[in-house]
Amino acid sequence: MKFTVLTLFPEMVESYFQSSIMAKAVGRGIVEYSLINIRDFANDRHRTCDDAPYGGGFGMVLKPEPLAGALDSVGATGKTVVYPSPAGRLFTQEYAARLAEIPEIVLICGRYEGIDQRIIDLYVHEEVTIGDYVISSGEIASIVIIDAVYRLLEGVITEGSLREESHADGLLEYPHYTRPEVFHGHSVPDVLLSGHHEQIRAWRREQSVARTRERRPELLTRNGGSDGFDTGS
Ligand code: SAM
Repeated sequence: MKFTVLTLFPEMVESYFQSSIMAKAVGRGIVEYSLINIRDFANDRHRTCDDAPYGGGFGMVLKPEPLAGALDSVGATGKTVVYPSPAGRLFTQEYAARLAEIPEIVLICGRYEGIDQRIIDLYVHEEVTIGDYVISSGEIASIVIIDAVYRLLEGVITEGSLREESHADGLLEYPHYTRPEVFHGHSVPDVLLSGHHEQIRAWRREQSVARTRERRPELLTRNGGSDGFDTGS
């Protein structure tokens, strides 16, 4: 799968692709990426990429011409173009899974007040928010999206591990423990030391449902209705 990222700060995104599990996925050819510097498509001698908003108000807006030049250079028409934005639809695990089926996605990293609406109207298929808050960098939002997507690709993470994660089946994941058995007076739950796989499975399921009910009850309703998950509680 290929990620093409349009950004004013390619070095920020490059370091992500060069680190950790992502670097391995790139090395093994599972992920390809291309970073396009929007500034290379600015058409004045100062290489200006932003301007004041029509109608007045605070901040600056990313100009359409450099963005259009960058998008045209990667043949964006005909590809899936994603614009991370706080005004988008909510990015979820299902959304990530859907994007993971697409061979190439093009991401536009916004800055300042965002990008000219005409670029969204002309090129963008998916305007998505990573959550109900505002951050200052489309690069960070793009990295969040890329990270959630690429780890679903075959060969990146063990399949069993993906199956049991939070949000994989609409629930939050159960708690994890590792050695030592007692830490600062707190013991690992007995069931996890029992070696009884069926009981462990049942305990984990119970913990998952209880946590979800306590912390994110709306997920239970969204994913299975009030009777969708049996906790015994
Ligand atoms: N004026 C915009 C608004 O109120 O919707 C906020 C712009 S924000 C300061 C700058 C850039 O960061 C955005 O263009 C977008 O690319 C990115 N960004 C900020 N918060 C985001 C979020 N919750 N989800 C996705 N992208 C976000």
